[in-house]
Amino acid sequence: MKPYQKEYLRKLGSRIEALQIAGNSLSEGIVEAAASARRIAHTLRGSGGTYGFPEISRLAEAVEEASADKLEFELTELIKYLRSLALPQTKTGYTILVIDDSEEVRLIVGAILERQGYHVLKADTAGQARTMLKDVQVSLILLDLVLPDTDGRNFLIELKEDVATSSIPVIVLSAKSSPQIKAECYALGAENYFEKPIDPGLLTTKVAATIQVDQKRHKDMQKDGLTGLINRAAFREFYEEALTESRNQKTPACLAIIDLDKFKSVNDQYGHLTGDAVLKYVTRAIAKILGEHDVFSRWGGEEFTILFPQMDSAAAKRTLDLAQDYLQAHPCEVDSGKQLLSVSFSAGLVDVEAFSSFDESFGAADKLLYSAKEAGRKCILTARDKIEAKQKSILLAEDDELTAEFIIHRLNRSGFRITHFPQGDEAYQAASNETFDLVITDVKMPGMDGFELVQRVRQTKFNQMTPIIILTSMGRESDISRGLGLGANDYILKPFSPTELLARVRRLLK
Ligand code: GH3
Ligand code: MG
Ligand code: MG
Repeated sequence: MKPYQKEYLRKLGSRIEALQIAGNSLSEGIVEAAASARRIAHTLRGSGGTYGFPEISRLAEAVEEASADKLEFELTELIKYLRSLALPQTKTGYTILVIDDSEEVRLIVGAILERQGYHVLKADTAGQARTMLKDVQVSLILLDLVLPDTDGRNFLIELKEDVATSSIPVIVLSAKSSPQIKAECYALGAENYFEKPIDPGLLTTKVAATIQVDQKRHKDMQKDGLTGLINRAAFREFYEEALTESRNQKTPACLAIIDLDKFKSVNDQYGHLTGDAVLKYVTRAIAKILGEHDVFSRWGGEEFTILFPQMDSAAAKRTLDLAQDYLQAHPCEVDSGKQLLSVSFSAGLVDVEAFSSFDESFGAADKLLYSAKEAGRKCILTARDKIEAKQKSILLAEDDELTAEFIIHRLNRSGFRITHFPQGDEAYQAASNETFDLVITDVKMPGMDGFELVQRVRQTKFNQMTPIIILTSMGRESDISRGLGLGANDYILKPFSPTELLARVRRLLK
């Protein structure tokens, strides 16, 4: 059941009360009560279907439209149904349906289970049970084999064949102690078998054990076997819950889709088993950085989704940046530790408030992920970055591999598109052929040094006006003023901090 549905059912209590008062007044002959019963029914008729309870709407409509002589009857039907739905105030939260034609059995079993804190529904025929199962979520069924309208075994088959009920565990209650019938019930899908007469202690033990096993199975079904993360279906459930909460409390929430970079080549190079181990490693690394409320799932293959409640996409991005940094600093050991493998990921992040459904948010995040891959991978993009990235492409001339990698990583991360050359003359070629939004150049380089590059870029058709940053470890004033004199707009002294780099880049791009 969805959280908003639970909320709705919780609020039903006061409506039921009001309807009951109207019903009592009606039977005392107070005519005004008819109008108030119809009025309350009218609101339920509208809201029931909206919240996914069409039967409420149907019964409420019957009340609203009932003739005077039918009103009391229809009202009773509606109240009965609402009571069956209103959230059980039990300590366990489990609802058990007892199907038995003997009133005595229903009473005894009901009393035993209610004492244990279960919420108990009772049906005396298969037909009645069918109706109840349509409307109420049941954790366990106790089924008698001899029913007035059908053989219990036929009803068991029906339950197991219907997708809506097939996963509810069934304990058969039987007066027949034939081993053959018992075997048949197990074969038909019963989880347990209980012989009458009823021993209260044994019954509660069997019920508790069956529910426990089922809960564990349900939990396992929500998990991905390799990584232990929740799977796609469970993620969607969490997502809906978290989103409702964030809407109610007007707090932000962010959805991220993560895809490992070039993962196919890990498999190709080291084999699938190592690939699996790397997947697990990356999962643990990311999980380590996440907060306890963040919901992390394996969406499928080497793709993951994360929901960050209470966080906007900018904050979530900072978290994922940390995960990326961690992976870079801690490569995964493969080949029994003989080799170190650097794994990176790309991601798309969206603020979910901007979208009306999961599919929409997911689609938008997926598009950003695609752009992140296009921008060169190892890149985390939010909608804001993408706008920036679309407009800005940067030419980088730098022969030192480490410095170049650092700059590319940092600027990619903010969504800029970087074209890198380790030689000055190659960078000059590129600048003669297309316009860049910014040029960053080292000074000492093979092919052509940075001073010459600045001078010549200024003479190209495409980049006469392009801002240029000189990166230099030569801190002498004469060098700096020479660079600026030749047409550079700014200089950065090595070593430099990523924040400083980004601030200067952004300033020049304004
Ligand atoms: P890109 O950076 O574009 O995402 O490149 P990629 O190679 O990661 O992308 P692609 O989607 O082409 O390939 C994904 C690969 O991930 C294919 C498959 O071999 C591998 N993969 C998916 N699930 C698993 C898994 O459970 N175990 C292993 N070992 N590999 C997996
Ligand atoms: Mg993929
Ligand atoms: Mg991939």
